[in-house]
Amino acid sequence: MEKWGSMPKVELHAHLNGSIRDSTLLELARGLGEKGVIVFSDFEHVILKDDRSLTEVFRLFDLIHIVTTDHKIITRITKEVIEDFASENVVYLELRTTPKKNNSIGMNKRSYLEAVLEGIQAVSTVDVDFRPHNADVGSPRNSPPINDTCNGSTRKKIYVRLLLSIDRRETTAAAMETVNLALEMRDFGVVGIDLSGNPIVGEWTTYLPALKFAREQGLYITLHCGEVPNPKEIHSMLDFLPQRIGHACCFEEAEWEKLKSSNIPVEICLTSNIRTNTIPSLDVHHFADLYNAKHPLVLCTDDSGVFSTSVSNEYNLAASAFGLGRRQIFELTTNAVEFIFADDGVKRELKEIFSSAEQKLD
Ligand code: 5GP
Repeated sequence: MEKWGSMPKVELHAHLNGSIRDSTLLELARGLGEKGVIVFSDFEHVILKDDRSLTEVFRLFDLIHIVTTDHKIITRITKEVIEDFASENVVYLELRTTPKKNNSIGMNKRSYLEAVLEGIQAVSTVDVDFRPHNADVGSPRNSPPINDTCNGSTRKKIYVRLLLSIDRRETTAAAMETVNLALEMRDFGVVGIDLSGNPIVGEWTTYLPALKFAREQGLYITLHCGEVPNPKEIHSMLDFLPQRIGHACCFEEAEWEKLKSSNIPVEICLTSNIRTNTIPSLDVHHFADLYNAKHPLVLCTDDSGVFSTSVSNEYNLAASAFGLGRRQIFELTTNAVEFIFADDGVKRELKEIFSSAEQKLD
């Protein structure tokens, strides 16, 4: 893991509630167990289980949401997740989360997102740049360039941008509500929309009106695509031309051709794909074929808490499974800056960071 410690990293596919520390999840579950809201031993068993099918993963998310859907907890986990990514030298993080409602505690999608924003502002181990550069004039929150010297000491900085997820269980109207919220909160670092949730549930076309509207309004779109075999859906998603897709596991020849000719970047989540049995083993993972075809790719964690992984671990896996050296992994990450969902100013600053890191690479 040390091997990747000093290398700057980008993380473009991380679900907030999937990235919670195990220790936090157990602590929160124990608290609810003591109050009699859940049976802690049942919960503990599910959290500590190692291999889960995709269906079991979504059952686990329902359990996680019981424990986390509360404003204070959302603020806490947001802070911790960002600090965890920053601690492994992630310099640019796109964090995605599904805005939720919980009438019993007065939570609506907006207040959920406000709790996330509070978490971002509570980060203390590192400076956080989360507001787009054209929205931050005079903002006290925005920090100096990365590794700028402040009071004689060097502070690290992480850029954080948010994607709001639409869950495949939602209605068209609920998806539209999420898109409208994203538009309202653009000045607070919301840059795009993700479609996720159990891939065997619902029809993706339910969300097309909301996704089209989001795109017309200038939000970026990434879609979970091809986690299960569904050629019709995969073709239709690729025809939509999202700015990125996640996973791309269950593609057939015609879908690969379409993907490659479209040049849509793919967020690759190795551990997640193996742990959910979406791909049987790394030696048959599509990473190799796409990498050899020079298709735009980025290595991501997906759910670092649920799958007990980290960005460094994903780099390690790619290096050992596909025979990539340190420089090749570095290039892969540097190239991903081209398809982040941030403005050109951020891209420029990140390129400078990567360029100065390159000199220290060997
Ligand atoms: P949240 O949006 O609650 O912060 O993060 C957890 C949610 O992200 C899950 O309930 C699910 O909707 C989505 N998610 C997390 N991991 C995956 C994945 O591997 N595939 C899909 N399709 N959705 C996921």
